Amino acid sequence: MRSGTAVLVEESAAEPELHFQRCRWCHTTTFQRLLCPTCGSTDLAPELSAGEGVISVRRGFTAAEADLWPVHMAEGFVVRCRVDGPPHAVRPGVRVRLAPGTLGAGRRPVVRLCEEVALDGWF
Ligand SMILES: [Zn+2]
Repeated sequence: MRSGTAVLVEESAAEPELHFQRCRWCHTTTFQRLLCPTCGSTDLAPELSAGEGVISVRRGFTAAEADLWPVHMAEGFVVRCRVDGPPHAVRPGVRVRLAPGTLGAGRRPVVRLCEEVALDGWF
């Protein structure tokens, strides 16, 4: 018989939180901007993203940015994220979600691939 005093891991503490902004006037969503890109309003309300998105097309990047991709989030804004996944599987159109416990202050959000990816030949 097992004892009933198993320690519950508080997973909620590691829940990733990605805040974006929604313009109160035209409802455009944006990320870390001072002005609404559509109407120029400064009246931006912070909202919490569900953390799901799709990798977007990127143009021109340096070697240091090789794992940084623009991710089009479900709420409509685009944020550059570090994508944690096998390079051969990371490409535009792939669905990703925010990885738990990886969003530090001032750091890039980290996302993981939603789909199961074959790891053959990865390591
Ligand atoms: Zn606006």
